[in-house]
Amino acid sequence: MNRSKPALIAIFSVLWFAQPALVSQELNSTFARDPGQPIDKQYTDQIHKYTTDPSFISPLVDYLPASKTVPTPAKVLGDVSGAPDMLPYAEDVYRYFRLLEAATPRVKVFTIGHSEEGREMIAAAIADTALLSRAKENDARLAQLADPRTIGLDDAKARQLLDQSWPVYYITGTIHSPETGAPTALMELAYRLAVDDAPYIKYIRSHMIVLITPVVEVDGRDRMVDLYRWHKAHPGQDWPHLLYWGHYVAHDNNRDAMAMTLDLTRNVLDAYLSWHAQVLHDLHESVPFLYDNTVGDGPYNAWVDPILADEWAELGSNNVAQMRSFGMPGVFTHGDFDTWSPGYLMFLAAMHNGISRLYETFGNGGADTEKRILRPEDYSRTWYRQNPPLPLVTWSQRDNNNYEQTALLSTISYFSRNTHHFLENFYLKSKRSVQKPTLEGPAAYVLPAEAASANRQIELVKVLKRQHIEVQQLTNEITSTVPGEKRGEKPRQDTFPAGSIVIRMDQPYSRIADALLDRQFWAAGDPQKHPYDDTGWSFAHLFNLNVARVADPSVLKAKMVPLDDPRSLAGKISGSGTVLAVANTGQISLLPLIYKLKDATIQIAGKPFDAEGKHFAAGSLLITDAPEAIAQIVHDLGLDASRLAAEPSVAMRKVSAPRIAFMHTWLSTQAEGWWRIAFDSAGVPFDYISTQAVARQTDLRAKYDVIVFAPVGRASALDILNGIPVWNNAMPWQKTDLTPNLGTVDGSEDIRPGLGYDGLAHLRSFVEQGGLLITCEDTAQFAIETGLAPGVSVAPHDDARVVGSVLNTVLVSPDSPVVFGYRAAGLPVISANGMVFNVSNMLGRTGGRVLMDPMTDPLDPYAKRATGRGSVDDSDEPQGRKIAEAEPLIKQQPWEPRPLDEELTRNNPEVIPVESRPDVILRFSDARSLLLDGLLDRPGSIAEHAVVVDAHLGQGNVLLFGNNPIYRGETIGTYPLVFNAILNYGQLARHPSSTTHSASAGK
Ligand SMILES: [Zn+2]
Repeated sequence: MNRSKPALIAIFSVLWFAQPALVSQELNSTFARDPGQPIDKQYTDQIHKYTTDPSFISPLVDYLPASKTVPTPAKVLGDVSGAPDMLPYAEDVYRYFRLLEAATPRVKVFTIGHSEEGREMIAAAIADTALLSRAKENDARLAQLADPRTIGLDDAKARQLLDQSWPVYYITGTIHSPETGAPTALMELAYRLAVDDAPYIKYIRSHMIVLITPVVEVDGRDRMVDLYRWHKAHPGQDWPHLLYWGHYVAHDNNRDAMAMTLDLTRNVLDAYLSWHAQVLHDLHESVPFLYDNTVGDGPYNAWVDPILADEWAELGSNNVAQMRSFGMPGVFTHGDFDTWSPGYLMFLAAMHNGISRLYETFGNGGADTEKRILRPEDYSRTWYRQNPPLPLVTWSQRDNNNYEQTALLSTISYFSRNTHHFLENFYLKSKRSVQKPTLEGPAAYVLPAEAASANRQIELVKVLKRQHIEVQQLTNEITSTVPGEKRGEKPRQDTFPAGSIVIRMDQPYSRIADALLDRQFWAAGDPQKHPYDDTGWSFAHLFNLNVARVADPSVLKAKMVPLDDPRSLAGKISGSGTVLAVANTGQISLLPLIYKLKDATIQIAGKPFDAEGKHFAAGSLLITDAPEAIAQIVHDLGLDASRLAAEPSVAMRKVSAPRIAFMHTWLSTQAEGWWRIAFDSAGVPFDYISTQAVARQTDLRAKYDVIVFAPVGRASALDILNGIPVWNNAMPWQKTDLTPNLGTVDGSEDIRPGLGYDGLAHLRSFVEQGGLLITCEDTAQFAIETGLAPGVSVAPHDDARVVGSVLNTVLVSPDSPVVFGYRAAGLPVISANGMVFNVSNMLGRTGGRVLMDPMTDPLDPYAKRATGRGSVDDSDEPQGRKIAEAEPLIKQQPWEPRPLDEELTRNNPEVIPVESRPDVILRFSDARSLLLDGLLDRPGSIAEHAVVVDAHLGQGNVLLFGNNPIYRGETIGTYPLVFNAILNYGQLARHPSSTTHSASAGK
């Protein structure tokens, strides 16, 4: 709670209780119709016909007012919104909104951008003509409230502005394409808002602007409609689930609000901020019958203003109380969705001084009317759901549309009666964001200028800019006090050179910058036992950058200038000479550079070297015959380069652009989409092939050097091999007249068959002939279980708990090309659930780690000594005979294979030849230093275990990631692990230094 504003709390309580309880339409006139306005009888009859239970409708939507001039949704749909067996394409939805715009001055339609596949995204603004015609003036006032620096944080001026202003409430539909109800509900809602003369709707129209984006995931919507059309044309047959939603990712499009990788996220935020809206309300369908998760559950995100938490309570409680007063069952606002991660689309508002809201209504994944059987956890009566959903229900798309519209109309009505209050909060939150340095701190985040990090700094600054965060650069060196890392540690003085990047916290959108750059801690004992999404995400760690959290406000007085173009941080060529050297410092653009310089001669240094006063790590590039455009190319890629007078005397090898295939399944394309977008946006070309194509392709090695098999998402090896069962009908995913939007990313006449044993054999021979197979999480498990990674197993997890946490790693093979350019210090990785590997020098069950007595130190072999003479570190000495020395026991580290001796190797065909034993590249750090951000509980079974392993098979390699190095656009710091491996695919054979056992004989 905000202790400095007791008056505000008082206002809250008055507002809260001022809203009278609604018993029924007869008893309360809040939502009464205009008796003088005729209704559209035919439309109204259809509404009732398609509503499957009288309790699934309310007085707000049980009729449709008639208009002589404004067309109803039936004009485009041919039937009412939510009618069965019909889903409109995005274009049809837009056509309706544009018909509205043409028919009434109360509706204005805007293009807000385009999707990755070029489809339009729109927003429609609805209000009285008087408001819309003065929307620009209103926006100019809202812009000042949104950035209180413009009025010198003067509350009196703010009051004048907000007295004259009206707020903007932004509703977004169907980001999740199989959740199909929102577009038709929003078409009808728009009609009602524009046409209905019920006093409460007239009040809405004259007091606020409702902004609607009816389709957020427009690529996915059109594919979903295709799929539904195929289903209707093939009654009784199985239809595929939606494999591709957007061009890249599926359900995760609602986890993009941090890195903002997807066009839809950028378009929605740009629209939201350009209207200076107060609310972003996102519509979903997965919970019966309406879960308004505005209240949700703890833990709440630690960076939101407490005013927002109060607004959630106010709006959520009021909304469901109204819904329940209509007698609608299954409406609730408390639930087990925690509001910790800021990755959800709605959270764009929470992190930009607005209000985030989300409805989960009930949907059938299409417009079929279905008998639905609910689970006990869905229909049970709980303290927060006294009128729970019915356990067995016939549910229609119209029912869904009734719930969505009723809830939206009633909450917008409440909002319209309290516009002043919400605008005041909007200003207060914005003001407190600007006051952050003096209220709670920090004063700023500073990224020290350092050439080695510039490439990744550019990527971070790009994210900050997408978030509309102002970024500055120091013009002079400064010294600032930086708090100690741990509680009780003394603050230290840090010096930041000129050119260092400053993210000031005295700016309106400081909150999102703070949330992204700060660290996160989720207590193991938190009462919330099911974190809804990632528990840690610090971008400082995930981008592998030095970022100082500076509390000392004097930093804000330092001289700085805006950093307008982040690419200016790098892209310079220094020196003179014929050889161009690009140091490997863990950039994401070294691999792309190879593809840009097809005609140049490029060599990779196998060892570090110094030249022209600079240090070049192993893996640095040396380019001769660079084209004239090289200056532009390195600038565009954010790479610094040095001209050298001559080639350095260091071992080098020529590289040519590796030929990459990107293999996907027909089970799910969710997780691989994040890899695909990373390759596409970096400029790394690849062939996109399915497991079915691999099953047909006998000579993969002739075509490809590297096959990337990104995570599928909880797929077993059998799932990948077998695909979808072929018991029933074929399931096509193809572009046809009926399904013009399918088959564009990839297609198959029948998506059911998987990789199969032929495909597996082809993959195996690809690797054996020198190819590199890159695997991650479930595809790493697949490689292990199908024998492609000899000596590697997935380590037992025991009771360790990790939920999307940022964990610390240590380089085990610093000479491996996979870690070229990385510093020896810890590399943060994101780990979904703590997946780690055991490695062994033998196949079979005997090769794993030595099982020690769990009661003693599992790592200390001498802890097992028997009772006898001497200390624990001594040997016992039998009496009456000569003392015989035992073979020294070697302390085996958790990331190491069990050492071999004569006993193990004698006549043992399971012993893996030296050159084929796996190399551990990265391991987790020890339990004490393992956690960087998020949740880590009982880490014993995963600490110090291998997390990235290079397995060797024949002439080739299989790289296994337990962490996901390319994830949601958030893990720029680990992209180069993948890119290095690709660039050096031919150099991953067992390193001579790693063939000897690396354990110190520590005891
Ligand atoms: Zn959803």
